[in-house]
Amino acid sequence: MIDEIPGGGASHLECTACGADYPSEERIGLSPCCGRPLYARYDLEAIGRRLGRDALAARSPDLWRYAELLPVRSPAHAVRLGEGFTPLIETPGLGKEVGLPRVFIKDEAINPTGSFKARGLALAVSRAIELGATEVALPSAGNAGGAAAAYAAAGGIRAHVVVPRDTPAPILAEIRALGAELTLLDGLISDCGAHVARGVEEHGWYDLSTLKEPYRVEGKKTMGYELAEALGWRLPEAIVYPTGGGTGLVGMWKAFGEMESLGWIGPERPKMISVQAAGCAPIVRAWERGDAHAEPWEGAETYASGLRVPSAIGDALILSAIRESGGAAVSVTDDEMRAWVPRVGAATGIFCAPEGAATAAAVPRLREMGVLDASDRVVLFNTGSGLKYVR
Ligand SMILES: *Cc1c(COP(=O)(O)O)cnc(C)c1O
Repeated sequence: MIDEIPGGGASHLECTACGADYPSEERIGLSPCCGRPLYARYDLEAIGRRLGRDALAARSPDLWRYAELLPVRSPAHAVRLGEGFTPLIETPGLGKEVGLPRVFIKDEAINPTGSFKARGLALAVSRAIELGATEVALPSAGNAGGAAAAYAAAGGIRAHVVVPRDTPAPILAEIRALGAELTLLDGLISDCGAHVARGVEEHGWYDLSTLKEPYRVEGKKTMGYELAEALGWRLPEAIVYPTGGGTGLVGMWKAFGEMESLGWIGPERPKMISVQAAGCAPIVRAWERGDAHAEPWEGAETYASGLRVPSAIGDALILSAIRESGGAAVSVTDDEMRAWVPRVGAATGIFCAPEGAATAAAVPRLREMGVLDASDRVVLFNTGSGLKYVR
C-alpha cells in the first residue's frame, strides 16, 4: 500500500503577518519579526508546469500524493502510516435530518490514530526528523498527542506529550501505548503549552505546538486538495469546520490559494464556516464583534476536547478566511453535540466525535441565519472517531 513518492520542499517560509521571508531549511518556530505563524511557500509556477492535476489519479492513496506541494524534501524522511485520502461521503439521510439536500461528510476518523491530527503530525514529525530533531514535544487537548506519539514512534524519535488530566481515557491509553512520555496537568491546553515551553527551553525539544511550527498546517491543508480532487476540481459551496486552533480551516484556505496558482481551480471559494462549543467560542465572539483578533476565552469548558482551545495563535488567519469567504462562525452547546452524535450516527453509519456532531448541529442555525442555501453542496467535517470519547 505504501507506494513510492516524489520529493517536495518549500522555497521559503513567510511571516503570515508582515510577509517577511525566512529560509525553509532552518528550524524556526514563530516568525522572528512579528511572533506570528509562518507559512511554507512553494515555487507554484514551476510545480504547476511539471505537475498536472490529472496525474494525481495514479498516485498513492494517502496525503503524500501531493508530495511536491509538501515541505518534506526527501521521501526517505516521510513517516507514513496511511494518513489522509479519507472518504467524502454524500449522505442524503443526514441531509434530510438537517434540511439540506446536498450534504457530505469528510470522514477524518479513518485516519491513523482516529483523527485528522494524523495529517498535521505526519508532516510536522517528518520535517522535524529531516531537520535533525530527536525529541519533539507538544501540548494537546488529546488527539494531537496521540498522533504525535504515533509518528514519533514510527519515525524512531522521542515524543513528550502534555495534556489536561481530564482528557478522555481512550486517548490517554493510546498515547501511553505508543511509547510517548505523557504528562498530565490540572488545567487547559494553554497551561500544558507553558509546560512544553519550559521543556523546549531547558532540553532543546522540538516544539510541535499548533502553528508554532510551520508544518502541521501543511499536513492539514491536504484536506483542501482532497476535497477539490474528490469533487472533480469544483470546490463545494460551503465547508463547516469544528474549530479549535483552526489549523485545518486556515490550511484548506491556503490550499485553495495554491491550487488557483497551480491552475487547478478558479477563483471561486467555499463559504468557510467555523463551529465552536458554546463553552469556548473565542472565534465566534470575535467574528460577531467584527474583530481581527480573538480575545482569550475565560473559563473554557466543553466535553469536545478538540474545541477546548481558549486562545488560538492563528486567530487572525481564521477570522480573515471566514470573512473573505462570506462564511460565518457559530457555537453549539455540549447538549446539542450529545444529541447529534446519535442523530448523525443513525442517519449515516458514522460514529462521529462530538466535534463532528457539532458541525451537523450547527446546520439548522446556519440555515436560519441565511448562510447556507438549499442548493449548496455542504461539507461537514467529522474530525475524529466517537470511540475516542467513550467514558
Ligand atoms: C484538534 C481537533 C479539532 C480542532 O481542530 P483545529 O484544526 O485545531 O481547529 C476538532 N476535532 C477534533 C476531533 C480534534 O482532535
